[in-house]
Amino acid sequence: MTVRTGSPAWRARASEDRPPDAPPRLGESRGRHQRCGVVPATSQSGVEPPTVERMTTRSQTTGTTETTETTETTETTLTTGSAETTGTVAALFEALSRTIPAKRLITDRDVVASLSADDAEWAPVGQAALALRARSESEVAEAVRICADLRVPVVPRGAGTGLSGGANAVDGCLVLDLSKMDQVVEIDGDNLVCVVQPGIVNDDLKAILHEQGLWYPPDPASAPWSTIGGNVATNAGGLCCVKYGVTRDYVLGMRAVMGGPAGYGNVVRLGRRTAKGVAGLDISGLMVGSEGTLGIVTEVTLRLRPAPKGTPRTIVGAFGSLVDAGRAVAAVTRRGLTPSALELLDHECLQAVEDWKHLGLEADAQVLLLARVDTPGEGGADEARAVAAAFEEGDPLWALESSDDAEAETLFAARRLAYPALERLGPVLTEDICVPRSALPTMLGMLVEIAARHGVRMATIAHAGDGNLHPLLLTPPGDDGAREAAQAAFEEMLDGAIALGGTVTGEHGVGLLKRAGMERELDPRSLAVQRAVKQTLDPLNIFNPGKVL
Ligand SMILES: Cc1cc2nc3c(=O)[nH]c(=O)nc-3n(C[C@H](O)[C@H](O)[C@H](O)COP(=O)(O)OP(=O)(O)OC[C@H]3O[C@@H](n4cnc5c(N)ncnc54)[C@H](O)[C@@H]3O)c2cc1C
Repeated sequence: MTVRTGSPAWRARASEDRPPDAPPRLGESRGRHQRCGVVPATSQSGVEPPTVERMTTRSQTTGTTETTETTETTETTLTTGSAETTGTVAALFEALSRTIPAKRLITDRDVVASLSADDAEWAPVGQAALALRARSESEVAEAVRICADLRVPVVPRGAGTGLSGGANAVDGCLVLDLSKMDQVVEIDGDNLVCVVQPGIVNDDLKAILHEQGLWYPPDPASAPWSTIGGNVATNAGGLCCVKYGVTRDYVLGMRAVMGGPAGYGNVVRLGRRTAKGVAGLDISGLMVGSEGTLGIVTEVTLRLRPAPKGTPRTIVGAFGSLVDAGRAVAAVTRRGLTPSALELLDHECLQAVEDWKHLGLEADAQVLLLARVDTPGEGGADEARAVAAAFEEGDPLWALESSDDAEAETLFAARRLAYPALERLGPVLTEDICVPRSALPTMLGMLVEIAARHGVRMATIAHAGDGNLHPLLLTPPGDDGAREAAQAAFEEMLDGAIALGGTVTGEHGVGLLKRAGMERELDPRSLAVQRAVKQTLDPLNIFNPGKVL
């Protein structure tokens, strides 16, 4: 497998751990599903490294209109490659190694570079001064205190699976890798609460909890690789969010190393661990989705649920077009149904997964909808029938409940693997728009039209039940024209979502890629309030500068 610069751990793990052994072909076991004429995908090998634009600290830290004096200090001190930078790197290393074991500090340029980017295509990447693989909250606190003294930006990262450039280095920064702070601190089954360090991987936490009959629901498709800290910082969504909510709904409280009024490098306890609590402003809630711009999350208190019992039912619908599938999804919502997952993937995704993993998938349809119903007993059977009936409003080629668990699991595995499978074909620019569910058919039609007008090859996956669409814009490696066309289509898709009352990012966050789109979406006064919050909590602008705002 080709590994790109800044490639996160999940790529390696994807090939080692995933997917499950190939189960029977779709429809083969009982012949219930129609067989599918496979549309061959163009398989290309050799993925070029993404174009890396050197991001100057100036462009990252000035943002739009507001530049603070301290920001200017950071800019002038950290001009990459200058004598000042060399001096700052040495001073930073020297200061950090006074109190933090030197083995935690990474200076090797290649390793630092590999920790300097997330998985977003074409988001600018700066040159970090060095990286720190923190092992404890006190190391994080010490690092932040020193960085504040030296006016060095701090860019936190979990697993680097982000898709908006949020974890990308800025010039002269300290990359603060939290992935080794991965312990479960406490599991309190009596109160359905657990306390974890930020670096624990989502699926690893799920597995530990499962042994105790407990469940942490948020399940981004990156759950085998992404960390709880990254999930909290991006307010990650996922497949089951349509019924069970997003990360925010499970964060009761946290500990964070903050700055500003708390003093840089001090640990602040935020939120609560009780089921209810309104003592003061919800700063813990503010930290959720703040993408590392307000401080570093060092511990999280999570709400849990009892582990689900029984096997969910899977309903599969095959459609001739994205718009038809969108009509079916809108019908599910309109009928008041709440499946525990309602995902969409098109034939391009299925084909890419099949070419890679040989799961035995075939698809004669342009689009598949996968719904899950986890209500036990007869109620679940009724619900599954109702979902299949709602699918009929989209004129499906067929819509059926699967009675083969292995087959159903394979389809969901294909959904989760779609993104890495497509990445093998070349650079992928990932959208993350979210629209009201009634507007889904219109938005899906718009996507097809925009992609066609720009001559961009598009594959589509979606948390369709949430109205959260991920059109994936595929470009041949090294084709600048295709890249520009994809970027133009990307921006038009954002405008389309805004026009329909939607948002430019449903779950991936703003990072670097959605900053312009966010400015088009939000009321200027709302932006001013956000900048004031950032200025108050991080007046030195050292926490992930230039991201989001
Ligand atoms: C194959 C694939 C599938 C995906 N599917 C989904 C999906 O279904 N739903 C979804 O929401 N996202 C999805 N994503 C995007 C990504 O996985 C999520 O955004 C995830 O939450 C990022 O976690 P991470 O540990 O990789 O964080 P990173 O990418 O390392 O960081 C993400 C952001 O969080 C900040 N951050 C990280 N740790 C901390 C911390 N401890 N304190 C403060 N800030 C911190 C970083 O600075 C950055 O801004 C997917 C990505 C891939 C590659």
